[in-house]
Amino acid sequence: MIAVRFHETGAPDVLRMEEVDYPQPDEGEIVVGVRACGINRADLLARGNLLPWPVPLPHTLGADVAGVVERVGAGVVGLEPGQRVVVNPYLGCGRCRYCLAGRNNICRTSRVVGLQMPGGYADAVKVPASAALPLPDEVPFDAAASVVLVGLTAWHLLVTQAALRVGESVLIVGASSGVGTIGIQIAKAAGATVFAIVGSEEKRARALALGADVVFLDDEPDIAKAIKARTGGEGVDVVFEHVGRDTWATSLASMARGARLAVCGGHSGFDVGVHLAMMSAKEISLIGSYGGTARELIDLMEALRQGAIQPIIHRRYPLEQAGAAHAEMEQRRHFGKLVLIREG
Ligand SMILES: [Zn+2]
Repeated sequence: MIAVRFHETGAPDVLRMEEVDYPQPDEGEIVVGVRACGINRADLLARGNLLPWPVPLPHTLGADVAGVVERVGAGVVGLEPGQRVVVNPYLGCGRCRYCLAGRNNICRTSRVVGLQMPGGYADAVKVPASAALPLPDEVPFDAAASVVLVGLTAWHLLVTQAALRVGESVLIVGASSGVGTIGIQIAKAAGATVFAIVGSEEKRARALALGADVVFLDDEPDIAKAIKARTGGEGVDVVFEHVGRDTWATSLASMARGARLAVCGGHSGFDVGVHLAMMSAKEISLIGSYGGTARELIDLMEALRQGAIQPIIHRRYPLEQAGAAHAEMEQRRHFGKLVLIREG
């Protein structure tokens, strides 16, 4: 079968299309024939050797896998060749206190498909059967693959960790990114008023079209002041933070008393500060959020099926053009997801 792999880290041209052995499923595993695989910023970091952990080489990227079950290992119950599935990329051990509570995303031995093991930049990928979740017939493969990591991340952060409720207000920084565009939609579907920050006029128009109520450009002065003016002087109830140092001051200053700031990353810098007296006096909550759970991925697929969430696909690339897709993503001019397609 064909896989796009890299043998050394570096620029997009280290991605090579190669003939590799078709994976054989061991007990409890299945092989999924990949129909679509989303590209994530983490893929670019892995290819550039910028992740906190070393990637095993040669490596096949791809965490966002949607496809069809092709082979089933011994002991697998409830999955048959031909079934449409989406793969939950966060693999837990299944036995620890976190996994048993359904929090496989924070299992100590958690691995991510496509980052710590071979992923979906290939004709087929081998995963534990427990990672394969049913994909509704109405949800196209590319739509599913476009929301796995970013959708899970946004859903887990807003719905589960920050417990966003109808009638609340939320600020989404970096709102034109993959997590941002789906975050806007999840927040609107939850009944919230959405404030967003983006980097250009064109992206502002697109964020508004996705349902954001008020969109700021990141170089506007006094964004926090403008948010307070539009929230009765209070500020937002929830902040969706994934940018880090560049947006941190605005994020903190935009919060209402009793508000929650949930964070799932900080690509502009992880080293930020918080004034403890302010945190105490205003009863501010800082909440961590990492990936998502199997149940949330099922809920996300159902939201796609219902049309409550629209996949935002910037461009589809055939698998063999993965390098070109990476190069486009590095230029940061896209809005939404880039998805690799494999015809089945
Ligand atoms: Zn575990």
